[in-house]
Amino acid sequence: MINNLQDTTTLHNGVKMPRFGLGVYLVEEGPELENAVKTAIKHGYRSIDTAAIYGNEEGVGRGISAGLKEAGITREELFVTSKLWNADLGYESALAAYETSLKKLNLDYLDLYLIHWPVKGKFKEAWRALESIYKDGRVKAIGVSNFQIHHIDELDSVIKPMVNQVEYHPMLTQKELHHYCKEQGIQLEAWAPLMQGQLLDHPVIKEIADRYNKSIAQVIIRWDLQNGVVTIPKSTKESRIVENAAVFNFELTQEDMNLIDSLNENRRVGPDPDNFDF
Ligand code: NDP
Repeated sequence: MINNLQDTTTLHNGVKMPRFGLGVYLVEEGPELENAVKTAIKHGYRSIDTAAIYGNEEGVGRGISAGLKEAGITREELFVTSKLWNADLGYESALAAYETSLKKLNLDYLDLYLIHWPVKGKFKEAWRALESIYKDGRVKAIGVSNFQIHHIDELDSVIKPMVNQVEYHPMLTQKELHHYCKEQGIQLEAWAPLMQGQLLDHPVIKEIADRYNKSIAQVIIRWDLQNGVVTIPKSTKESRIVENAAVFNFELTQEDMNLIDSLNENRRVGPDPDNFDF
């Protein structure tokens, strides 16, 4: 049973990644952002997920620095992820973008660096750059985001991605992709685990949540964890930061897991990785 907020999964290169973390998409630079990151660390979060395109790496960096100090922990105890944006998918530009992210975050390494989107004709070259950053020992792990099975196959890489971060929630259970990633030793990570707030009045999940005396958000996050999927729900509110992490003192039965699985409608809130134009 996964019973600790700081439990980790071991990636295929041996690096330990927390199964649970904080997302900061759409949180602008400023006190709210810095505070959210700091507060999450204070409440035991050990993983923070940002991206160059979020335009908030500097504030995330300040939040991390304040959070480490307040929690009395070291940088090594925290797992920080950022992502390479589409405009920087060339080899040299990817190398430079990694340095820029580090500088903004005020860190000297990242735990995980991801290719954000599989832009046709570009992501293979970018992957070579990530492989080189990894081989140089400048990043602990590298991975991809929004990659379908065929994108991963097309990588034809020396180093297999350690993580694939994709949209994943009860309306989009990604069974085939998840199965493929498991076979390949690639850790699946859920973005928009709460479907960006759209599932928080779902009647079936509500009925389950009531039986466990938990919130809908908590049931969904627990479902991620029991499915072996890393999850990074976003909130800037302290009460929800605490609520979303309070998922380690109960276990969903197999029956309830299956019930949530059965809600799948292959419905996305975000873009389709096979059909996007940015
Ligand atoms: P989430 O599914 O995490 O939903 C976040 C929304 O739910 C916010 O509006 C938040 O509001 C609200 N919320 C959070 N907790 C609760 C709660 N307990 N009760 C009620 N409402 C709640 O969506 P995200 O898109 O933010 O996904 C999570 C993270 O995944 C992102 O922050 C980002 O780091 C990453 N991501 C990656 C993408 C990629 O392409 N790789 C794409 C999108 C996201 P409030 O803050 O007001 O509490």
